[in-house]
Amino acid sequence: MTTNETASTTNVSATNATWQHRAVPTIAKKEVAPAPRDNVAVVACPSCGDDIVKSRLFEYLYVCPHCDGHMKMSARMRLETLFDRVDAELGQEFVAGDQLHFVDSQPYPDRMKAMQKKTGETEALIVMQGQLNKLTLVACAFEFDFLGGSMGSVVGDRFVLAAETALKARQPLVCFAASGGARMQEGLLSLMQMARTAAAIQRLKEAGLPYIVVLTHPVYGGVTASLAMLGDIHLAEPKAMIGFAGKRVIEQTVREVLQEPFQRAEYLLDHGVVDQIVHRHEMKKTIERLLNKLLNLSL
Ligand SMILES: [Zn+2]
Repeated sequence: MTTNETASTTNVSATNATWQHRAVPTIAKKEVAPAPRDNVAVVACPSCGDDIVKSRLFEYLYVCPHCDGHMKMSARMRLETLFDRVDAELGQEFVAGDQLHFVDSQPYPDRMKAMQKKTGETEALIVMQGQLNKLTLVACAFEFDFLGGSMGSVVGDRFVLAAETALKARQPLVCFAASGGARMQEGLLSLMQMARTAAAIQRLKEAGLPYIVVLTHPVYGGVTASLAMLGDIHLAEPKAMIGFAGKRVIEQTVREVLQEPFQRAEYLLDHGVVDQIVHRHEMKKTIERLLNKLLNLSL
């Protein structure tokens, strides 16, 4: 045995830990976002850099009045601006476990607590049932600020509950997707949600109930590979990035530089993945019109 081999063997036994418990090296973060200016009455638009009066952001639905850039919007705000009246919030009884005892730079339960404190939400998917004009429907939205909108078992539980509630009440389902993909802290349990959610959508289809997906910036990984691509209609917000693997990973694999607008909503519209790009100000009206048509209730 060489000196090197001896050293590495000693190292492994000395740590006495399984692969799950070894710390994952952290990736250096790029400085992109400007420092938060909580006490300032204006925010800089991430697209054009112009100042926007903070108190008017809600009225603009977080769309920049200067360049029309669609800024990040919370899941709760999306649902509250979609519905004219919210009747119920569903799935809050589901709480994530820690079956793998996963530790990256911190234990999974600690990370969850930090996310709950940061976002004020208990999980990365919010489900509501309510009225949109004369329609009653179930809608869910991913909270991207909650662990990158990653799909763990509770996100799966809540989505399946949303679909089953819609099925039982014979109502349509709408999903606003924004996700980095599966949740690595839940390993295989996270990947299983792709099959569970796909099966739930299939039951809706068999019952003839519409399922509309709104692709918002960004949608990637296991969410793209399951519930976000199984809609009867796929709407997308302007310039949203949508894909399975990220642009950089594909570039490294195919050894080619991929130019804009690769993976943008506009590119996917040209290639038949997206049915329509809808401005956020028109989203509510568009969803209502489409659902009325799909439910054969044309006005
Ligand atoms: Zn702007």
